[in-house]
Amino acid sequence: MQHRAHTTDLVARDKAVLWHPFTQMQDWIGDVPGPPLCIVSGEGNWLVDTTGKRYLDAVSSLWCNTHGHRHPVIDAAVRAQLDRIAHTTLLGLTHPAAVEAAEAILEVAPPGLARVFFSENGAAAVEVALKMALRYWQLRGETDRTLFVSLEDAYHGDTIGAVSVGGIDVFHAAFGPLLFPSVQAPTARRRPGGGVPGRDDLVAGMERVLEANADRVAAVIIEPVVQGAAGIQCFPDGYVRGVRDLCDAYGTLLVCDEVATGFGRTGEMFAVNHDGVTPDVLVLGKGMTGGYLPLSATVATEDIHDMFLGATQEGRHLFHGHTYSGNPLAAAACVATMEVFEKEATLAQMRPRVEALRGAMREIEMLPGVVDVRGRGYMIGIELEPGMGRDPLPARTVCQRVRDAGVVLRNLGDVVVWMPPLSITDSEVDLLTTATATAIRSLGS
Ligand code: PMP
Repeated sequence: MQHRAHTTDLVARDKAVLWHPFTQMQDWIGDVPGPPLCIVSGEGNWLVDTTGKRYLDAVSSLWCNTHGHRHPVIDAAVRAQLDRIAHTTLLGLTHPAAVEAAEAILEVAPPGLARVFFSENGAAAVEVALKMALRYWQLRGETDRTLFVSLEDAYHGDTIGAVSVGGIDVFHAAFGPLLFPSVQAPTARRRPGGGVPGRDDLVAGMERVLEANADRVAAVIIEPVVQGAAGIQCFPDGYVRGVRDLCDAYGTLLVCDEVATGFGRTGEMFAVNHDGVTPDVLVLGKGMTGGYLPLSATVATEDIHDMFLGATQEGRHLFHGHTYSGNPLAAAACVATMEVFEKEATLAQMRPRVEALRGAMREIEMLPGVVDVRGRGYMIGIELEPGMGRDPLPARTVCQRVRDAGVVLRNLGDVVVWMPPLSITDSEVDLLTTATATAIRSLGS
């Protein structure tokens, strides 16, 4: 098997049997924009392909790797758990790893959050948040509160409920017939021919939506501080606080989806910390296992949790659960990930690197064809002129070209995304900057 896994026909076999997510398979099969990379191992912030070539994992294996690959503490925790049991259920039973993971999350979560409901991916955790909110109001006797307010350009995952509160047409529009209605408040995206809307305008936009739907809103759901999949759109300081205050004033719930922004990505453990906000429901995923294993969480206040209490036959409990919810291997990885945050003082270690990345952003900003460079912490978007260098997909080409310099990146439309592991070093930031700048310059020629 080891031998088969390393044969050069692996890519050909892939092309015969796999259907890749978010991938135009015609391009993939046709080696457009280049032949696929086949990653066989990882080490720290690096990926290694079948030929032994090393690549900086500047996409954090889809925004989830936090402390690097094969981190000894997380490796050991998963191995130790494997020696005990790989899977047992949280439906009617419990296990130490789930308890410890929930405790570890609550220890760092904003004050007031008290209950951790596990799922396996971000979208599922969003579905749970939506169901929790809807059912909370039903159980309170406010059955008209069935409407969700989301943001323009929102992305909360690919399942039908998550898509219903999504706002990225290219991902979501085709599924319209399957979706439930939601209303959208303004995003911070730069307006055509204008500037970026300010904090007060954005909050006022949210207020107009809440005012118009006053008693029907079950919850407002936002990606706090940075809308990732929208192309790394950043909200001004104080916006999340403004939305929190509006939710209080209009008596509705605030759900913050930190699947992408959580676990240090924006420089704070959670993006809501920038504004000192506690949401009613916090949605977590991606980085919570260090990027090792699928685990997500919907974290609620005790008030929400308690609304679901009653005799079993009353049927008030939350009718939701997945086979692998709170899987022990994933939960063990989560506990170890949180341990590493503490032991290595990850957030403090990141600070000088956040500065280094800011410097790198200014360098990239100066390049011809770069429309905008924006970001917060380790979430950075480099927007290129559409059709730059007569290339219909310039950002994709940049991501392809940086591979020659040993860097893996992934674009979102015209935006080249930098999303390095929290453990990226100064010299790796330099490599990322130089490789990206060289690839952008090459588009002009
Ligand atoms: N919410 C946000 C903000 C996300 O960025 C993502 C994924 N990028 C999701 C939800 C969905 O997570 P998953 O891919 O694990 O379902």
